[in-house]
Amino acid sequence: MRLSVLGSNGTYPTPDRPASGYLVSSGATTVLLDLGPSVFPAVLAAGPLPDAIVLTHGHVDHCIDVLSLFNYLRFDATERWGLPVYAPAGTIERLAAFSGAGPDHDFFRALRPTLVAPGTVVEVGELTMRFGAAVHPVPAVCVRVEARGKSIVYSGDTGPGGDLEKLAHGADLLLCEATHQGTPGPDRYPHHLFAVEAGALAHDAGVRNLVLTHIGPMLDPDVSVHEAAARFTGPIRAAEPGLEVAL
Ligand SMILES: [Zn+2]
Repeated sequence: MRLSVLGSNGTYPTPDRPASGYLVSSGATTVLLDLGPSVFPAVLAAGPLPDAIVLTHGHVDHCIDVLSLFNYLRFDATERWGLPVYAPAGTIERLAAFSGAGPDHDFFRALRPTLVAPGTVVEVGELTMRFGAAVHPVPAVCVRVEARGKSIVYSGDTGPGGDLEKLAHGADLLLCEATHQGTPGPDRYPHHLFAVEAGALAHDAGVRNLVLTHIGPMLDPDVSVHEAAARFTGPIRAAEPGLEVAL
């Protein structure tokens, strides 16, 4: 099982760093987790299109490049029509609305959307994906991907609570958002995590490896790793485009 980071920026892309986009593969099966701004060119560069796409929620920095993917499918890759897209409520509707897509539009032939919710289990090739509830202002999920006895869990965007800790129990790798640095105070934003919280969650869930992602673009990722290390003693890395982790 392999994780390949295509983009990892929180909230918006910068010149060398797309927003959220991660390939998870096992054998001949590959799924893409999130397709944020500037990720689509990296998908093309990575090789054949993935077998399926997961969108954790409908915020721009996690899904907007689906519109570029659609144009690619529509004009230059019709042989790949029917590409499965798994997303929570409201996500596909936002993207379809931007495309002006009614029910009979090519959008719904090029892409094959399937609604997911906490508790949904999906199998794509040899990958099994289980979805849990994330804590975010729009419908949002976290996901556990398993194959050949290995597991990668991705937080999507979430605040404390929800299903992430339960979903991550004993995982080989937790890819966890760590949007903020410092100490969460009483007025903290409730829909993202601090690096120290990502570390605590990794510890409490008993994961083997922690990869921090969705770090604010203007923050130093080394500081986030240091803060998470106060609560998690296992290996910690900051996600960046090109990072590959084989399990
Ligand atoms: Zn979000």
